[in-house]
Amino acid sequence: MDNTWQERLIDLHPHLFIRICGGLPFSPAYPICPDGWQELVATVVERVSEVANDHPVQFRELSEKCGRLRIYWKTESILPKRIERSIEDVIARAEARSAVTCATCGAEGRLFASSVGRLLPLCSEHAQGTPLPTHAGSENVHLVRVLAADKIGTIECRRYDRRLDAFVDGRNPIVENLPITKSNSVREN
Ligand SMILES: [Zn+2]
Repeated sequence: MDNTWQERLIDLHPHLFIRICGGLPFSPAYPICPDGWQELVATVVERVSEVANDHPVQFRELSEKCGRLRIYWKTESILPKRIERSIEDVIARAEARSAVTCATCGAEGRLFASSVGRLLPLCSEHAQGTPLPTHAGSENVHLVRVLAADKIGTIECRRYDRRLDAFVDGRNPIVENLPITKSNSVREN
């Protein structure tokens, strides 16, 4: 039987995924998400591998939650701040991109709710269910965690531009002085 795209991705980056338990390898962060996100998941894994360089960074979880990708990671060493910021940045862009990427084909999409309330972004060709209403001025605005200084983080509202794969507007902090240990992507000591 052919390997899944997730298995092939893990084989390419075993240092980010594989742990040994009882002498056996396993991958707790095996990506659990729609096939339409295959390319963006491969991209974020590649980017994290590049920016982490030889530092011991591992994914804890990559999965779809409420229609968008959520990525959790850890390190067992003290990372230079610039590397930690770079990892947070590539992960924030991938999570934002997933919210506007069709879960079926990977084209640009928007969030739809199925008849049982399941949320997924879908393109016009694969649209099913009811499109979620968007409010003028708040399209593609995401909450993004930014590391501002040592041990201090900020949650900001940023607008994601899918074409540029970048956050494009000015930063508007809405929660300041957030302890890093309360964020969703934390160092585990
Ligand atoms: Zn589609």
